[in-house]
Amino acid sequence: MSLLFPALTEDPGERVALRFGERSLTYARLAAAAGAVGRRVAGRERVAVWATPELETAVAVVGVLLAGVAAVPLNPRSGEKELGHILADSAPSLVLAAPGAELPPVLAALERVDVDVRATAPLPDGHAGEEDPALVVYTSGTTGPPKGAVIPRRAVATTLDALADAWQWTGDDVLVQGLPLFHVHGLVLGVLGPLRRGGAVRHLGRFGTEGVARELSTGATMLFAVPTMYHRIAEALPGDPALAKALAGARLLVSGSAALPVHDHERIAAATGRRVIERYGMTETLMNTSVRADGEARAGTVGVPLPGVELRLVEEDGTALTAYDGETVGEIQVRGPNLFTEYLNRPDATAAAFTADGFFRTGDMAVRDPDGYVRIVGRKATDLIKSGGYKIGAGEIENALLEHPGVREAAVTGEPDADLGERVVAWIVPADPQSPPGAEELADHVARRLAPHKRPRAVRLLDALPRNDMGKIMKRALPHG
Ligand code: ATP
Ligand code: MG
Repeated sequence: MSLLFPALTEDPGERVALRFGERSLTYARLAAAAGAVGRRVAGRERVAVWATPELETAVAVVGVLLAGVAAVPLNPRSGEKELGHILADSAPSLVLAAPGAELPPVLAALERVDVDVRATAPLPDGHAGEEDPALVVYTSGTTGPPKGAVIPRRAVATTLDALADAWQWTGDDVLVQGLPLFHVHGLVLGVLGPLRRGGAVRHLGRFGTEGVARELSTGATMLFAVPTMYHRIAEALPGDPALAKALAGARLLVSGSAALPVHDHERIAAATGRRVIERYGMTETLMNTSVRADGEARAGTVGVPLPGVELRLVEEDGTALTAYDGETVGEIQVRGPNLFTEYLNRPDATAAAFTADGFFRTGDMAVRDPDGYVRIVGRKATDLIKSGGYKIGAGEIENALLEHPGVREAAVTGEPDADLGERVVAWIVPADPQSPPGAEELADHVARRLAPHKRPRAVRLLDALPRNDMGKIMKRALPHG
């Protein structure tokens, strides 16, 4: 068995490993409870985990991994259709759930095993190789139906160790987070990460700025969150000195899963003196780049490739950029021990995702600053607007719009246009629905900040942007997006 969690398997002690709300487990208790899960699932190929933001989910996943079995975390908020697709696709042989959890009818045919955090059993002696699957995680479904990425144990171990290097992350760190546990961010980075280091995670159950302030002022050292959470923090800061003080005292504030708007980054920096660092990853590749703990946290950038990750930007004609000018856009392609094995049951999609020399095509477009810092421009599929001979990234226009006081949320898309090929369209949630900013005013605002050809040619008002569970904007769900 490859050692994913030395602190758990070698000498578990009375240090706290997990805390969810009022309930916590020491390493010794976690080893015992995960041991019981592991013995129950040993010998299976894949088992599902009903991934509510509770202690039982963490115990279940750790137990499954210790048994050398693959875990398929399920989003409890998924609809029946999506769950049905994931169950048919991944064919788990049972589902692990917290004792009180109510499972929807689509799961009724599956054997259910309740996870008891008080159970005690010796660790199973599962036999798993480095290339054996640890997890099958379904992508967020931002650009199409979710695909099941088969993530080997080797990728989990190497990505967590690369982050430890970049973030000076040790067993002394205590992480606070309130992320969902069915994606890489909350589960792999946010639970397995602290356990691999021998440190602790405090999960808020439900994200709230009070919880963040409380935990960071009582011993937590790091915060992992998605941009919508940092947005809530930025909004709360002016009226919440305790929150500002708590954030100022944190060792590391990390954002990922989507682009952190520059406006929120700057507001948090101004109120706390701390700059949020961004990392960039995907279900298929785990983590690719990050601003380093000892590096410069430049707003709007996701830092540099992590140790072991080869990253290149490739232009449309297939040539890789060799010089970085901060302007030339290419697709991010990555290669390294952090990569997934395949999309489950999708040999076609797997083959299409890799180049002949083994790089994964991320579908994300970026430029690199002269010193190598990566700036993501947006996704090839939805965020690159070809207008009047220019290639325009939606992200920088969204950032500019968010700096306008009348704009609460913004999404930019391209729409077919007879003259321009495509035209820039801004979807706006106004700060005050009674007096939204005018289209011309917003167009001027963008033209002044960026360039005239980047100004939105149409502005559409919405009550809210369509977002998924990670707070990502679902551009394909915009009315005409
Ligand atoms: P699907 O692949 O199903 O369409 P998805 O790509 O949103 O959904 P994930 O694997 O959860 O599914 O998300 C990975 C994507 O999230 C990346 O490809 C990138 O577009 C985006 N992303 C992650 N971190 C960042 C970041 N720091 N800045 C900008 N974008 C990011
Ligand atoms: Mg994707």
